[in-house]
Amino acid sequence: MNKNIAVIRGDGIGPEIVNEALKVLDKVAELYGHTFNYVDVDMGGVAIDKWGDPLPQEMLERCVNSDSVLLGAVGGNKWNDVPGYMRPEKGLLRLRAGMGVYSNNRPAKIWPQLASASPLKESIVQKGIDFIIVRELIGGIYFGEHKTETVDGQSVATDILTYNEEEIERIGRIGFETALKRGKKLCSVEKSNVLDSSRLWKKVMHRLQEEYPEVELSDMLVDNCAMQIVKNPAQFDVIVTENMFGDILSDEASMITGSIGMIPSSSLGNSSCGLYEPIHGSAPDIAGKDIANPIGTILSAAMMLKYSFDMAEEADAIEKAVSVALDQGFRTADIMQEGDNLTLVGCSEMGKAIRNNIKR
Ligand code: NAD
Repeated sequence: MNKNIAVIRGDGIGPEIVNEALKVLDKVAELYGHTFNYVDVDMGGVAIDKWGDPLPQEMLERCVNSDSVLLGAVGGNKWNDVPGYMRPEKGLLRLRAGMGVYSNNRPAKIWPQLASASPLKESIVQKGIDFIIVRELIGGIYFGEHKTETVDGQSVATDILTYNEEEIERIGRIGFETALKRGKKLCSVEKSNVLDSSRLWKKVMHRLQEEYPEVELSDMLVDNCAMQIVKNPAQFDVIVTENMFGDILSDEASMITGSIGMIPSSSLGNSSCGLYEPIHGSAPDIAGKDIANPIGTILSAAMMLKYSFDMAEEADAIEKAVSVALDQGFRTADIMQEGDNLTLVGCSEMGKAIRNNIKR
């Protein structure tokens, strides 16, 4: 297959981690007979310096016209004082809007080799944690009307939570499609004992399920879900939920895995062109030192293969290579632990260890 990938290296550790991910993709291309063409895109601080704009229109078009986008991270202290509309993060918001992505998908996976980094008890971690949260990204209370007024001499603040059937259905589909590519279990999380928007959510999810008979659908109230994520996370395969619940639950889920440098994410819309990026930022404190963990970005590239390019086997080969590199004892500083047979490596050495373990 021939695919065009828009590559945003961005700022801070962005260029270092993205370079390792591209070398991994090159290895996959070589082994599986694919061609990946990389189209460079300037976004964030680097684009402000070069073009006076965090995401010039031409750069956005390169992304929209590609088969998918791989992003490192943007931002840094250097651009803290630029006007709000010019901030590096504005480039990211404009990119998401321009690509029309409305779902954010974040896996929570504990690698057995790093289990001790999890704040959860060993007995819970041992059952295995490997699920993904599909969060609605551009609707709900964050995008409803917000107002503060004075009523009877006191301030009254209101935020409106609205979802229509179409918005729920399209995120529901991403949930079902994601479950189809994984363990075929989907848990729809809402607060239908209290909220009308949640009752509609639940109704639409169940209607959709008729189109996906292979997927086992369950419902869970959000407060229970917050408890279950720490009590028995092994029960989950895919969770689908609305914007605010997803915001909170996905941060909770990333905490239980123990290392921010290991977690990839994807953002998807109606087309197969997705945005793939690690969940961490540009880590200016360690930029340029070749010590960043590239695994979150490498796993983001694996997600791209699986969810945008239908290359599940290739994605699995990358995940397996990460696992083998960890088995071999390679650790970047952020995941280094006490113990024998562990080797502290930098970003480029970790990338190389993973590349060397990709097998067909
Ligand atoms: P951060 O995620 O960049 O860093 C938090 C801590 O985690 C730091 O100590 C950092 O060294 C460490 N860390 C992060 N990624 C790592 C990796 N791959 N390997 C090893 N250690 C890693 O968050 P922050 O410090 O709050 O933000 C720094 C900059 O990144 C800010 O300008 C912020 O706006 C931006 N940011 C960008 C994105 C994005 O591009 N999507 C997301 C979050 C923050």
